[in-house]
This record gives sequence, C-alpha cells and structure tokens, in this order.
Amino acid sequence: MKIVVVGNGIAGYTAASEICRLAKKLNEKIDVTIVTKEKTPIYSPCIFHLYLSGQIERDRLFIHSYREYREKGIKLVFGEVKEVRDESILVEGYGELPYDKLVLAIGSKPAIPPIKGVNLNGVFTCKTISDIDEVKSYLDRVNPRRAVIIGAGLIGVEMAVALRMRGIEVCLVELMPRVLPLLLDEEASNIVLSELEKNKVKVHLNARVLEIMGDDRVNKVVLDSGDEIESQIVIVATGMKPNTEILRKTGIRLGDRGGIIVDRYMMTSKRDIYACGDCIEYKDAITNKPTINMLWINSRIQGEITASNIIGIEREYLGEYNITGVSIFNKHVIAAGRKEEELRGRKYDVVEEKREDRYYKIIISDGKIIGFQLIGEFRVAGILHTLAIKKVNIQEMIKKIELPRQLRLIPYSMKLI
Ligand SMILES: Cc1cc2nc3c(=O)[nH]c(=O)nc-3n(C[C@H](O)[C@H](O)[C@H](O)COP(=O)(O)OP(=O)(O)OC[C@H]3O[C@@H](n4cnc5c(N)ncnc54)[C@H](O)[C@@H]3O)c2cc1C
Repeated sequence: MKIVVVGNGIAGYTAASEICRLAKKLNEKIDVTIVTKEKTPIYSPCIFHLYLSGQIERDRLFIHSYREYREKGIKLVFGEVKEVRDESILVEGYGELPYDKLVLAIGSKPAIPPIKGVNLNGVFTCKTISDIDEVKSYLDRVNPRRAVIIGAGLIGVEMAVALRMRGIEVCLVELMPRVLPLLLDEEASNIVLSELEKNKVKVHLNARVLEIMGDDRVNKVVLDSGDEIESQIVIVATGMKPNTEILRKTGIRLGDRGGIIVDRYMMTSKRDIYACGDCIEYKDAITNKPTINMLWINSRIQGEITASNIIGIEREYLGEYNITGVSIFNKHVIAAGRKEEELRGRKYDVVEEKREDRYYKIIISDGKIIGFQLIGEFRVAGILHTLAIKKVNIQEMIKKIELPRQLRLIPYSMKLI
C-alpha cells in the first residue's frame, strides 16, 4: 500500500512514523512518503522564542534528524503540492505522485489583518523556521531599539518576552481588553499584564493598529487612538488559520472556519483521504461544538489516531482539548479547557484563590472540571488535565476517597466537599 502524507509538521510526522511503526509490528509492507514544501526535518515552533532570545541554539529547534526518517522507513519528497486529485497529488518540481491513502497534514498559516504597510521591510510573522531565521537575521543586522508586537495571544506574548530579553524596548498592542484573551479570564490575565509591565513591556489594550509606516523599512506604527509608536521591527501575531486553499476545488468538505471536516476516524469527506493537525475542524471534547484548536498536543494525537485507522486498527478521536503552557518572565501559566467568560448563562462552580505568587482557578460544571487557569503552580496541572479529559465527577470522587496528595495542594472550597 502506498501512503502519502502531505506536511512535515507534528501531525504529518507523527502520522507517518506511527504508520511505519504499526506496519512493522503487523508485518505489513507499506510505502510511506512525506511531501513537504519546507526543506528541513521536523522542528518545533513552540520554542522559537527561546531561540530568538538566545536561550537555545538553532539546532535545538529540530526534533528528529534525517537519519531518523531513514531508520523509520519514511521517504521525503521536497516540493509544494499544487493539486490534490483522487488517487494522486501533483507536486511542484516533482510531478504526479500516486497514493492508495492520503493524509493531509497541511497545517495553518498566519491570519494577517489588512493593515496598511504590513508588507514593509521589517514586518514579520512567526510561523515557520524560515520566518524565524528572517527575524533573527534582521535583529542581528539592524539591531532595533524598539519593537511593536501586534497581538497579545500566546505567540505575541512569547515574542514580546524574547525581544525584551534581548534588551529591545517592546510595545504589545492588543485589540481585546486583556492579554492572552483566548487563554485566560480577567483575573489571571491581569497577573500576566503586571508581570509584562514589571519587565518594561508597554502594553496597549483595546487598541488597533491602523498603519505601519516607513520608507525602506518600518519606522513607526500608528494606533487608532492616534498614538504613534517608534519601532524598527514589527511582529504580526494575530492568529492562524487553516492552510486549506488548495482544497477548495477538490470536493473535500471544509467547515465554516475553513478547516477540513473529518469524522471520528480522521477521514475526510473523501474515502482514502484523511486529515489531521491544525488544518482540521473537529468537535471540542468538552462542549461537543465544532472548533479549531491549533495546538501541538492535539495535532500529535490526531496524527497517531490517523495512523492507526489507516493501518486498520480502529481508533476513535474523542475531541479537541486545549491545554497551553506559557512562561512570562518569572510567571509560569497553564490554561486549559473553558474559561468562565465563555460560560455565561450556564451553571458552573469556580474554585479560585490568589496568593502572593500563585493563582488558581478551576471551573466545574456538573461535578466535572471543564477548565482551569494556574499561575505559579505546575504540579497539579497533570492531574487536573486528566480529571478533565476523563470527565471524572470530582464531587463524587471527593466524597468517596481521600484526595490525591497533589490535589490537596489546591485550596478546595468547602462547598465542593
Ligand atoms: C510560534 C509558535 C508557537 C507555538 N507555541 C505553541 C505552544 O506553546 N503550545 C502548543 O500547544 N502549540 C503551540 N503552537 C502551535 C503548534 O505549533 C501547532 O499546533 C502545530 O505545530 C501544528 O502542527 P501541524 O503538523 O498540524 O501543522 P504545521 O506545523 O503548520 O505543518 C504543516 C506542514 O505542511 C506543509 N505544507 C503545507 N502546505 C503544503 C503544500 N501545499 N505542499 C507541501 N507541503 C505543505 C508545511 O510545510 C508543514 O511542513 C505554536 C505555533 C507557533 C507558530
């Protein structure tokens, strides 16, 4: 059987290596090829900020070497897929590549707002390793004194910290009224804001960038308030969208947000074509509503499930679950599941406590943990996450058994017990 995987991110790589592993175990003869337009082995974008800040060397970004691909039996074809057909794909510079089963793991790309001047020299996004190489080389060459980051989501905040650690004056501009708006409710977000400000990151909330100005390269950013911020580099971190344009005419069903619709076995609307990773749209494990959760762990799990189903070992995907960790100078944040803000009109309980250097919020609905936000305390994250994804009724559990040691670290309110 000929299996072609398009995409060499964590979803595609996991799918390909799992197919090889399972085929070997089952003694099946399978030919696995990854096609990718980026000419590198798999790398992790999640640690780009550590490279930019100088905390790690570039080679640490790569997760597996070419030797490991060879050892696993994965062939690599470099080239952009221009067309997806039934039974074959068309790869630029290579030609037609036939398949028996196809995995689309084509990921996401930056959603760039139509801001005047966004194409100026000195304006960057941070999606791929070549983006980050360009940022690094610009920083080394131009030595900017001031930077503007547009978007205070996970990537924007990480980039703000990285540039600040290089001694650059950083302004973070966010449309919403708080930082990390998709991860945190107001209380936790305010703690992060204080940490950013304490480390001299200037944060503009409720602010929109109207124009990026400059001649041969960027020199200032204009906000809707009329404020003008001098800046020699701008990073646009305004979110990602599924990279699915090449599928528009294929008949493969896409969702409202542009993600590929898959069934619980990761199969698209076309038989023999599967999809996984940032490019798919699936149900949220908690709300059961369609969602796109572009996170590393989801992509990896989806890659594993895709591989299993392709090889004939039926495995169901139960839904996307978001859990994210981010370090903001000396504050370490983990957020997962639903936020209180999203639950208006629903019945839920909150267990929350703020101490000098720690903050906890655990959101419980029908006795089950549906979300949590932790600052300064990692030890409980694993157990909370497990209880949440397994939908354990913790009220029942707490009544019946002694609390696990780690859970006792959480200041549970009496009403829970
Ligand atoms: C800066 C940054 C920081 C992040 N930090 C975190 C974090 O802390 N925690 C977390 O959970 N997640 C984080 N993420 C998100 C996480 O990295 C992604 O969810 C994950 O990498 C998605 O993997 P993927 O394989 O689905 O897609 P991608 O990594 O986007 O890979 C897609 C692949 O498809 C290839 N491709 C696309 N189109 C074509 C084509 N037409 N022809 C050939 N090849 C093609 C690409 O070259 C690439 O190899 C971060 C992302 C970024 C950018």
